[in-house]
Amino acid sequence: MRKNYLLTPGPTPLPPEVCSAQARPIIHHRTPQFQAELKEAFAGLKYIFQTERDVFILSSSGTGAMETAVVNLLSPGETALVIEGGKFGQRWSEICRAHGISVKTLEVEWGKAADPKAVAAALKADLSIKAVFATLCETSTGVTFDIRGFGEAVSASPAVLAVDAVSGLGAIELKTDEWGVDVCVSGSQKGLMLPPGLGFISVSAKAWKMVEASKSSRYYWDLRRAKKAIDKTDTAFTPAISLVIALNESLRMMKEDGLEKIFARHHRMGEAVRAAVKALGLSLFAPSAASDVVTSIYVPSGIDGEKLVKTMRDIYGVTIAGGQDEMKGKLIRIAHMGYIEEFDIIVGISCLEKVLSKMGYKFILGSGVKAAQEVFLQD
Ligand code: PMP
Repeated sequence: MRKNYLLTPGPTPLPPEVCSAQARPIIHHRTPQFQAELKEAFAGLKYIFQTERDVFILSSSGTGAMETAVVNLLSPGETALVIEGGKFGQRWSEICRAHGISVKTLEVEWGKAADPKAVAAALKADLSIKAVFATLCETSTGVTFDIRGFGEAVSASPAVLAVDAVSGLGAIELKTDEWGVDVCVSGSQKGLMLPPGLGFISVSAKAWKMVEASKSSRYYWDLRRAKKAIDKTDTAFTPAISLVIALNESLRMMKEDGLEKIFARHHRMGEAVRAAVKALGLSLFAPSAASDVVTSIYVPSGIDGEKLVKTMRDIYGVTIAGGQDEMKGKLIRIAHMGYIEEFDIIVGISCLEKVLSKMGYKFILGSGVKAAQEVFLQD
């Protein structure tokens, strides 16, 4: 027998209510029963996105929602500015290029955040930029970007701001309307505590004009078609019915807690992991902009990072993530997002200690757990 713990930055663990909702017999989507589910989901998503606008539900992973943003905002040959500080910033550029959009990048060293002043300067220097693409939490590095600052910079220009909040929505603060986020995209398998399979996207009035004008090829991702459906509390195509029903379970749980309490829980867990890292003599990869979503930690010298992750997962059942792309083998990433609580963190840290100890890393056994406990005791 072995119990499994999932501490990865997506998918994240599922609450039992979400699991059992998916096991309900399927219903047809063009019925009053499903329409009631959709109505509830649309209202709940507005609460989580902190927006008054429609939030469209897509049957896709988060990348599908990103592509929806690109093809609906821009036409081939137009210019986008992408803030790239990791793998998911790069994904914005890749999607834009795939659709013939000319990409300018604001490159940020992995592990660092971008300065909104640099965004304002880039917009001033090139008046052809129609859209700025940013990331709320860059999952590959564990950095939270200053979306409020980007919003101020972009809203002073004719361009629109599109934010990838796939990782971070419902876990850390994101005031879509108030911060001037014109397009916000997300996915189901992270802060929203669902399996992968749903994408979400909200669009401001400023951005909607671009949706109408875009000459990019689009059919499944065409938001004009989605808008006609949402106005009738419907979806353009067969939705992922069971996931939408499960979404209402997670939205209910989140509303019951309230965003403020949810964000405070994520902050406490982030603080606890960061305290444990310090106590264990390890180093944070992003000390100046560490997110409360996922913590990236350097693998100490002399330790095989990939073996560390594999041993925790395959021998002890605790799954964390390793580094991606250029950071493969050099980082471990411990997520503290979604259906995760303080004792899940304690389990994760104690397993990390056990495996580090077995691999020969020198530290005081229990010091990481103690440091995390001390943060949790401050409640
Ligand atoms: N953006 C970010 C910040 C992510 O963390 C992820 C998933 N790891 C994605 C985009 C892509 O989402 P998906 O894998 O659901 O397509």
